[in-house]
Amino acid sequence: MIRFHNTLSGKVESFEPIEPGSVKLYTCGPTVYDFPHIGNWRAYVFEDLLKRFLIFSGYKVTHVMNLTDVDDKTIRGAGAKGLSLEEYTRPFIEAFDRERDILNILPANHYPRATEHIREMVEIIQILLDKTFAYRKDGSIYFAIAKFPAYGRLSKVNLEDLRPGSRGDADEYEKDSVHDFALWKAPKEGEPVWETEIGPGRPGWHVECSAMSSKYLGRTFDIHCGGVDNIFPHHENEIAQSEAANGVKFVNYWLHCHHLVVDGEKMAKSKGNFYTLADILAKGYDPYDVRYLLISTHYRKMLNFTFDALEQAKAARSRLGNFFGALKDVTRESDGIQDIRPLVEAARAGFVAGLEDDLNISESLASLFSLVKIIYPLVTQGAISRRQTQPVLEFFFSIDEVLAIKPSPVRSASGKITGFSSVEGKATAGEEQYADVEGRLESEIQKKIEARQKARSEKDFNLADEIREELLSQGILLEDTKDGVRWKKIIPPGT
Ligand SMILES: [Zn+2]
Repeated sequence: MIRFHNTLSGKVESFEPIEPGSVKLYTCGPTVYDFPHIGNWRAYVFEDLLKRFLIFSGYKVTHVMNLTDVDDKTIRGAGAKGLSLEEYTRPFIEAFDRERDILNILPANHYPRATEHIREMVEIIQILLDKTFAYRKDGSIYFAIAKFPAYGRLSKVNLEDLRPGSRGDADEYEKDSVHDFALWKAPKEGEPVWETEIGPGRPGWHVECSAMSSKYLGRTFDIHCGGVDNIFPHHENEIAQSEAANGVKFVNYWLHCHHLVVDGEKMAKSKGNFYTLADILAKGYDPYDVRYLLISTHYRKMLNFTFDALEQAKAARSRLGNFFGALKDVTRESDGIQDIRPLVEAARAGFVAGLEDDLNISESLASLFSLVKIIYPLVTQGAISRRQTQPVLEFFFSIDEVLAIKPSPVRSASGKITGFSSVEGKATAGEEQYADVEGRLESEIQKKIEARQKARSEKDFNLADEIREELLSQGILLEDTKDGVRWKKIIPPGT
């Protein structure tokens, strides 16, 4: 049974979708006025882990993510460049799509854009006006939170604190209450205007998620995600709008992921600790290592991004990759004495149990690595057969449907991972690269072996031993046989 921490109840609850076997999921998407930073990607990667695990568990997932292409920031950006909203936001939407694919995030079923759903927003606002949850003021339309007693249930904000007059600056607001929020904004010089049944203007930000989620997922759906910074006011406002308009519960499970900080500090361009995905990849990191880092901290914990942590993620992923590669290299035909299957089944059970427990990824990864720890030495000692590696490889493949980190057995001399090959042995672009790197490495090894032979013939046994040790440290074992020197790859346990 899958359990999630529901922000609404503040408790871990058993997950039961409305319709058995299928899950309707809404995740707040990017405001496309800039390139997403790694804090944004943390949230999207968490949502991808959630979605992939639901699919892995047998659910059909319908996923909607909105693209906010009209708000203060996009309008300001477009205005500054003299572009239309469409022209201004297009490169950021393209970048979002590209980077999503680079991070191996499954695309949503729908990416509705705010500017293409004005009619749906106007419909909700009209209903809210009719039901007197909304009021007009100076050409704008606001939601009256005092009319919605459940306001604050998600974020646990105290409505008393939000009453007019509770803040000194209340007079600066044209609304009835400081926290009443705009559903529709009156036309302003230099801003796009839509002529609609409720008057001219443009939508507020919050209403788009209410309008688009109900259009694609229905009035009540299963899971809504976002970052913790979305809880108040954005998600609180979504609940107010949707439940006031529709008269039914909006969302059953709210999952929020914690912030990402860099070197223990809030990311800010002014501090020089602000990173986009492109910034990190430009430093030579593999996107799958970035993904591994982003998923390997539990989503409800703050993630401290550091380059040390990224190096550790890289090392952990390399270890999985090397193990995977060693499994594929097994050639022994006769079965070893060890029965591998119970170990794999235990690892699978642990992996699933971890994720079922509110996506406890640490527990899942621990199960995975403990399997590696037991089987790796058996593989390097040649103690299991090729046939016996099959359940392990299959396990690797099935869980990588969830982790999506493509553990790669391939490393070039610089340590950069260059490819991934599938268990069926299908050639991929990565594999072709791999062949290159492998070829280069082999000629390097061959040169070292020749240097060692030369040293031995000159009776420089110290140098010969040094070369042998050097190769060993790279996982290359030399064997002196009657037919000459042979070498084989070994991957020392613990690497
Ligand atoms: Zn939203």
